[in-house]
Amino acid sequence: MKISLNTKILIAAVLGVTCGFIIAGLGTETKAASIALYWCGLVGGLFVNLLKMILIPLVFTSIAVGIANLREHSQMEKVWKLSLFYYISTTALAVILGLSVVNIFKPGVGLEITMFKDAMLSFNTQSLTISEFAENFLSQLFINPFAAMAQGMVLPTITFAILLGIALVVSGEHKAQVVIKGLNEFFDLIMMIVGWIMEILPYGIFALLTKLVATQDPSLFAALGKFILVVIGATLFHGFITLPLLLKIFTSQSLKTYYLGVREALVTAFSTSSSSATLPVTYRCMKDNLGVNKDVAGFVLPLGATINMDGTAMYEAVAAIFIANLVGLDLNIAQQLIVFSMAILASIGAPGIPSAGMVTMVMVLQAVGLPVEAVAILYPIDRLLDAVRTMVNVKGDTIGALIVDKYTSSSS
Ligand code: ASP
Repeated sequence: MKISLNTKILIAAVLGVTCGFIIAGLGTETKAASIALYWCGLVGGLFVNLLKMILIPLVFTSIAVGIANLREHSQMEKVWKLSLFYYISTTALAVILGLSVVNIFKPGVGLEITMFKDAMLSFNTQSLTISEFAENFLSQLFINPFAAMAQGMVLPTITFAILLGIALVVSGEHKAQVVIKGLNEFFDLIMMIVGWIMEILPYGIFALLTKLVATQDPSLFAALGKFILVVIGATLFHGFITLPLLLKIFTSQSLKTYYLGVREALVTAFSTSSSSATLPVTYRCMKDNLGVNKDVAGFVLPLGATINMDGTAMYEAVAAIFIANLVGLDLNIAQQLIVFSMAILASIGAPGIPSAGMVTMVMVLQAVGLPVEAVAILYPIDRLLDAVRTMVNVKGDTIGALIVDKYTSSSS
């Protein structure tokens, strides 16, 4: 009997979590556990490297080819306008939800910040003012594309691919046909390699999940339990209620088909904590399982993986209020509005890699005068929270692609 990839991934996820608990039960210092964790680290690391290897060629070709092909149907303008509108409005919705929940449950109130004194003292945070943040972001936009690609930098690769795509369109019907054909063929080859990587996806997921579960520290969960519950609860609410509701309202997609189609991408996002590394899987799910137009997916998904992060934006806002509660500061409406806009900006600027949100969060804290060393409190629990928010980040991209596809593909 041939087991489908979807089923294999499900089995791998369940086995990974189970083994993680077993190893944690044994104690991670025991010989057997450390050997198991070593192998899981090695296999998981190789798997993430494989995804990252294919990421840049995929982003580059999918965007350039997507723009060149979409122009043939004159859909491009609609696609990018709708995508940006979707990204910004859903991220804002997520932050509003996060701020409402954190203001109701008030995690951090009554908790002694001195408990975390040691962590904060030994922590070295770089400051990140708004202008430094903007400067960083802007200076990343235009970089020699070869250097950017060689270093795996997604944002400048996207910029160059967009410019090349536009140039291919502007150069006219018959001019750059060889390049367009060549890029299309190259893109098909890249997708063939992605198909091979998908075959070993279950092994990577098993290794990553085993390590993730086994290396959590339960004592921190006790101290920060309320905060963790608020973050996970609000993030899952956004991911599993708000976003699917939007999908239902704006497309006629059945939720069952949707979940069957995106399962692989969601599990990969959870296991890798990286929207970018998940992108090859996300793209395949959307195109092959859910039939999204390849050019629409090729544009919406890479851009989404880089700038659309609902889970991250919500986390930054909730964490800022949590820290304010810890230090006994009551943020007024105006200050919360600053947190709201900064969290959105910070999520746009955060790259789709593990714990990126923790770095840009410094800017949110500084904007309302909160102590930046306090992020030290959050680092030890970030692996788990990052897994949840990355899954919702990727979910946001997939639902965005379905909505944009629905409203733009009919005119092709
Ligand atoms: N890990 C997240 C992602 O890749 C970013 C973050 O919130 O740290 O989407």
